[in-house]
Amino acid sequence: MKINKNYQNLEDSYLFSTIAKKVNEYAAENPSKSIIRLGIGDVTLPLAKAVVEAMHKAVDEMGVQATFRGYGPEQGYDFLRSVVQKYYASRNTDLSIDEIFISDGAKSDVGNILDLFDKDNTVLVPDPVYPVYVDTNTMAGRKIIFAEANESNGFLPMPDLSQKADIIYICSPNNPTGAVYNRNQLKQWVDYALENKAVILFDAAYECFISDKNLPRSIFEIEGAKKCAIEFCSFSKTAGFTGTRCGYTIVPDELIVDGIHLRKMWLRRQTTKFNGVPYIVQRGAEAVFSECGQKEIKQAIDYYRNNAKIIADTLDEKGIWYTGGKHSPYIWLKCPNGMDSWAFFDMLLNEIQVVGTPGAGFGKNGKNFFRLTSFGSDVKTKEAMERFSKLF
Ligand code: PLP
Repeated sequence: MKINKNYQNLEDSYLFSTIAKKVNEYAAENPSKSIIRLGIGDVTLPLAKAVVEAMHKAVDEMGVQATFRGYGPEQGYDFLRSVVQKYYASRNTDLSIDEIFISDGAKSDVGNILDLFDKDNTVLVPDPVYPVYVDTNTMAGRKIIFAEANESNGFLPMPDLSQKADIIYICSPNNPTGAVYNRNQLKQWVDYALENKAVILFDAAYECFISDKNLPRSIFEIEGAKKCAIEFCSFSKTAGFTGTRCGYTIVPDELIVDGIHLRKMWLRRQTTKFNGVPYIVQRGAEAVFSECGQKEIKQAIDYYRNNAKIIADTLDEKGIWYTGGKHSPYIWLKCPNGMDSWAFFDMLLNEIQVVGTPGAGFGKNGKNFFRLTSFGSDVKTKEAMERFSKLF
């Protein structure tokens, strides 16, 4: 028996455990100080009432013989796929219901989709980015190359024609930088993928934070993308489903490699390895698209947006360079005076008791940058930024 030795190549992820350790030690030594956490990537507001009511109703159905449901369709119930279809149609993107796959969240599918691709593909990943892209490909033993994101390109790297990639990850709005590609920039990535016969894995987990109608919320708003892209989306940040678990993946029918439809491969993969998302959860997700659901989730997103604005306004006042904050819950700031991101972390914790996330945890290009998030309470966010203002 041989184990998958590629796991030995994974870098230990000490980021959040180191943060927790430092914060706990500081709290134990300074019990009178109030610590404000602006580092979390998890939502804090509860589920919308419309969602909770729909799930209660679904629970009741499960307890009655006539409406009980056992195994559901692996690809998701039609009632949910059809409202996702309408959601895309409302943004002028036509999808067939067969192209929509309901999942238990974007993280699982971003990892699972790799089942469709040969080990010998070269993968292009932005640096810095959501660490799951690197780790899932490291587990599979694929060669990884990086698209350099930095201050000079606004953390939005563009295709480098000298780099030959087969699988390209794009996350827009980005975690951790909050940077968002415009249509013209995404078109360049689509053209590059078509030219190189590559596939784009587009992570749209934060699309709901885009408020400018001119910015693309889906890769499929770009001409040609259906021939070269797969899109992942999630109810986690849109509707507070981080603990409830539901998302969807779009594999277009036009995505054909060597005569093989990737949509059919993905369907085969899902029907073999996945037994679907719970009926109760899918009913909750369906309610996100109801009139009440939409109103309620918009309120929650606006609440987070307002927090982001509080943070961004303070940075503007202080003349600190940053990306994000406008179409994203993340604010990615440049540590003042060229400080290292861990040194900046220690300084904020010790001086003003504000916790953020050192950029070094997301890739080498994050070494001198720092992530703040807008998922906290408005009162705490305001107080944190008042403290920040006094410090600088
Ligand atoms: N994609 C990105 C870029 C994320 O930042 C996250 C979570 O933080 C996910 C996917 C995971 O989403 P889900 O909760 O749907 O698995």
